[in-house]
Formats: sequence, structure tokens, C-alpha cells
Amino acid sequence: MFEKLMIANRGEIALRIHRACKEMGIATVAVHSTADADAMHVRLADESVCIGPPPSNKSYLYIPSLISAAEITNTDAIHPGYGFLSENANFAQIVGEHGITFVGPKPEHIRMMGDKIVAKKTAKELGIPVVPGSEGGVSTEAEAIAIAEEIGFPVLIKAASGGGGRGMKVARSLDELAVALSTARSEAKAAFGDDAVYIEKYLGQPRHIEIQVIADSFGNVVHLGERDCSLQRRHQKVLEEAPSPILDVDARNKIGNIVADAMRKLGYLGVGTVEFLYEDGEFYFIEMNTRLQVEHPITEAITGIDIVREQIRIAAGAPLSFSQDDVQFSGHAVECRINAENPETFTPSPGLILDYHPPGGPGVRIDSAAYAGYRIPPYYDSLIGKLIVHGKSRGECLMRLRRALDEYVVGGIETTIPLHQRLIGEADFAAGDYHIHWLEKFIERTRSQDD
Ligand code: ADP
Repeated sequence: MFEKLMIANRGEIALRIHRACKEMGIATVAVHSTADADAMHVRLADESVCIGPPPSNKSYLYIPSLISAAEITNTDAIHPGYGFLSENANFAQIVGEHGITFVGPKPEHIRMMGDKIVAKKTAKELGIPVVPGSEGGVSTEAEAIAIAEEIGFPVLIKAASGGGGRGMKVARSLDELAVALSTARSEAKAAFGDDAVYIEKYLGQPRHIEIQVIADSFGNVVHLGERDCSLQRRHQKVLEEAPSPILDVDARNKIGNIVADAMRKLGYLGVGTVEFLYEDGEFYFIEMNTRLQVEHPITEAITGIDIVREQIRIAAGAPLSFSQDDVQFSGHAVECRINAENPETFTPSPGLILDYHPPGGPGVRIDSAAYAGYRIPPYYDSLIGKLIVHGKSRGECLMRLRRALDEYVVGGIETTIPLHQRLIGEADFAAGDYHIHWLEKFIERTRSQDD
């Protein structure tokens, strides 16, 4: 096992990784920008190294500083967390070339899944169902017309190098296609430096359902069921639940086994999430994330498996400590992402947290790096905490969630706690009846009522 692990991240995920390391007897090295000198991940780590000024491209994304920090501290392994360099194949490769273990998949798999056209083609070859659409990139209007007429309108034009929901354009009819294609290409070029785009069928009211997988270096691959992440705003997940309120055991096992078999064929290593849209009983692959995800704790809650510990064990060359048959799903879990934002306009609200009282009690877990007296810097994402609640049933889980949200006090800044309180009071949510556009419509509706 590793003796020392460097966490190339900040915020709640840096703490999450630190906690797994401490339980495993691994010493931790935190890295931080000058803006994060007082951050909780720095305070808790065994050692810390300042890697640069506040902007992430000069600190958390700056590979030479990270490698130097790992070398001067004699680090055995680097965990990238999520975001930042977690899906940067070059970083994974450079880490390996320095004789340090990257806690993550092989660089070639990160690269493969980072290009959405290649990812979709690979998924299809591995037997994973995909959204009908172009076989590869589309550059001319004539090609776009031919494909759109074959699959039918509406269609979605997506950037090959897209991410975070950017670089997507819907065309509802032939008239809109040419403009959508050229805007998607120029936006993709501007945002990602790559104007390659592809076309797929635009699904009207799907759910976003993703499968968690974990694979060791001995060819063992296990799926840990699904997470339903349909409640999104601007393609950003807001609240996630596991299991999905609309999947039954057979549907879960079927898609879970398809994904696990595909990853076995691929020779995948580490944790990964295969994301699908789900409509009318069919799954359609949209992308694979080759890293730990923000919402992993709800899977931990219903399986009792520490995904980060397992991820580190696998990276150190150990076999998975459980088989598919050992995985038992128990109860229901929901995660609310609490952001430092105005709950109506979503403008960021960085600044000083005056009071901080997280909820507790049965079934409640908080993953957060916040504390009273902490000043949220304006440079990074606005996630200040994840409230994860588990119950024996969905009903018990929602009952606990309601009181946990009522208990949560974050004073001095604005947070999205009131949004979650309103959302979970809705009849559609209580019934589990929602899709990927539901939340935006709900926000619009409740905002116009306030006006
Ligand atoms: P990104 O990497 O930018 O997050 P994804 O391919 O994961 O891109 O898509 C992000 C979101 O966009 C999905 O969660 C879904 O809400 C929407 N989306 C993607 N593909 C489609 C599609 N074919 N039809 C309808 N919505 C889609």
C-alpha cells in the first residue's frame, strides 16, 4: 500500500480523499493556491505545499508545480479528485512517467472517453446502447441534413470535446439546422479549441441515469447500480438519488451487467461512471466519466462500500475486496448540492461564512470543507457542501432530508438550501415523476409566481 498520497484538488473532495487515506494509514499531502492557505484540506493534511497564485491555471491546473510538489514530498501516488486535472490524460501520463501512481484509469482510456465521438463509437462497439445519430463527426450541411432526415427532428448538435453541458445546439426543423451547425462549430472552437461536432436524436423528456462501475487490475469489474441525476439546471446536477425511483431490479441488473461486461472487454481500471439518458424504457449512452464523481456518496450510502478506499486499493494493485454477488442495495439515498449562490438568480455568493451548523442525526452525512469564519474565495466552483441522506425507504429518506435541510445553517452568504427545500416539497418530486427539464421549468414557474 502507498505510504504517502498527494491530493491534487481542494474543497470537499480533498477532505473526502484525506479521510479515506487516514483510515487506511496513508499520510496525505495537500496542495493549495495562495487563496486557499486557510482551507480545511490544508489544515487536516499531514503536509501541504503552496503551488501558486489563485487562478486555477496557475495552481491546481499547473502540472509542473504539482509534479514538483509530489517530488519534494516523496509522494507515492496522486489522487486528482474530480474536475481540475482528473480527466486530463497527459497529466495521468506525466505522473506515471515520474514513477508516481495516478489514482485513476489508464491514460489511453481517459483520452478515449474525453473525445465524445470516439467514446460513443467505442461504447457502441462494446455493446452499450447509444443515442441514434451520426457515426462520427459531421462537417458539412449536406451531411447534417442527411443524418437529421434519417433520425428525424429534433436533433442535437454536440461538440466532440464538449463538457459541462457546453457546446450543444438543438435544431427542431430543417430551417434551423444550418444555423445550429455553424453556431455549434464556432462555439466549440471558441470553448474547446476543436470545432468537431456530431449529431444525435434530441430526446424530449428523458431521465439522466448513470451506472457506477469499479474495475481492478485482475479483470474483475463490478457495477454498483445507478444514480438518477435528472434534476439539473443548465446541465449541472442539483440533486441526485439512488436508486432511481423508476428502475426495477431487472432493469438495473440488465444495464449494470451490460456496462460491467463492456468495461471488462475494454480492460478498464479504477472507478468510472457511464452516463445514459433513459426514455420509454430504453437506455442511451451519452458519455463516460473516467473519475470519481461528485455524487458518489449516494452509492456509498446504499451499498455500504467506501468507493474512495476501494479506488486507492485498486490503484495500489490490490484486487477488489468484493464481487458482484456481494453487492447488496439497501434503502434509498439523496444528495443535495449546496452552492454558495442566490437560490433564485443563481448569482455566486462568495464571502465570509459567519455561522456554520451542519445537520446531524440518523442517516445524515455532510461532505463539506466549510466552517464558521471560512471565507469562500471567488476563484473556484460554488459548491460548499453536499448533504447526503439515507433511509430505509424513499419515504424515510425524504422525511430525514426535509428536517436536515431545515437544520442546516450557513450564515453570512447566500446558499441554495431554500431551492432544495422548495423542490422537495413538490408533488412531482415526491412521486419521483420528473425528467431532465423538470427543474428548469419548476424554477421558471416559481420565479414568475414571486414576481
Ligand atoms: P457534457 O459532457 O457537456 O455534460 P453530456 O453529453 O453529458 O455533455 O450531456 C449533458 C446533458 O445534456 C445531459 O445530462 C442531458 O441533460 C443533455 N443531453 C445530452 N444529450 C442529449 C440528447 N441526445 N437529447 C436530449 N438531451 C441531451
